[in-house]
Amino acid sequence: MSVRFVIFTDLDATLLDHRTYSFKPAKPVLEKVKKLKIPVVLCTSKTRAETEALTRELGLKHPFIVENGGAVFMPENYFPAAFFKKLGLKTVKNNGYRVVELGRPYRRLRQFFKLVRKNTSLPLIGFGDLTLDQVAALTGLGKKEAQRARLREYDEPFFLESSLLAKWLQTGKKNQALKRNEGTGSSRLKKNELISYKHWGPNDIRRVLRRIRQEASRYGLRITAGGRFYHLTGRNDKGQAVRLLCKLYRLKFGRIITIGLGDSANDWPLLEAVDYPVLVARPDGSHAKLPPGVKNIYKTRKPGPRGWAEAIKYFLSSFGISEGRAAISTVENKFKSAPNKKQKREKIKNL
Ligand SMILES: [Mg+2]
Repeated sequence: MSVRFVIFTDLDATLLDHRTYSFKPAKPVLEKVKKLKIPVVLCTSKTRAETEALTRELGLKHPFIVENGGAVFMPENYFPAAFFKKLGLKTVKNNGYRVVELGRPYRRLRQFFKLVRKNTSLPLIGFGDLTLDQVAALTGLGKKEAQRARLREYDEPFFLESSLLAKWLQTGKKNQALKRNEGTGSSRLKKNELISYKHWGPNDIRRVLRRIRQEASRYGLRITAGGRFYHLTGRNDKGQAVRLLCKLYRLKFGRIITIGLGDSANDWPLLEAVDYPVLVARPDGSHAKLPPGVKNIYKTRKPGPRGWAEAIKYFLSSFGISEGRAAISTVENKFKSAPNKKQKREKIKNL
């Protein structure tokens, strides 16, 4: 008997370098994984257009998860239609893919975003407000890639613009905003909170985000932090999409072991959904702070794609993987005294 492996991976600052977007340092290990026929599922906040281009560049022909779990795209005949029926999954066919949509439509997200901005007068800027050149400048992407990044379907990336904030204070918009908010009572932000933004610091940002999050949850929406931007989405997340694909892979392969790699807060649900979570180091070698719930995680020493390669090499050799599978006996011997998942993780940390 054997067990198959499936890898779920974030892109930015994980498989791709945070600054250059290069996956070159991970390429030799990725090629090995491809030869072993281990599916590598991209799981990203990027759009379908961006991710599709990257799957081609990486030479991957597997499903991919876009816009923070907004949708799962699967090559049309990758899983038999009967699997979807069995799991009660509604799919739509789209340009050679079977798609499961988990997110809220982009136009709804924009409606909410504009409403919050209007009611709070906070300097919130979303992708939908930016020109192609601005997206390219902010992300460091080339024009072609930036154009793909603007084709949002299920996720609005946004940020709090501090230079705008300064302008907003200088021009007295603060007072107008206060008057408007006091008049309508529509803002959830209190007067003293607005004034305190003169001394904008991490705590203020946290407080503002907490408020926006409260608003979002009233509308059935969610805000998460990515490596570069905050993201406004529906209640979907990467973990939900990963779990869905795991069910399909179990029908396809039988027993599977999943490895998940990510670097920032929007990856927590992904890391919680896999057997072996990997937290990739940030460019400065530090690690994002973990929330409670994701324990016994493999933390890479190296950042970005070098960290990706480090972790995958470690797991390939630890499990003695050949031909994309390992004998169950090999895996079980490795974790002889670790009957449950938690203990397995502790064990692997000490290997
Ligand atoms: Mg990332």
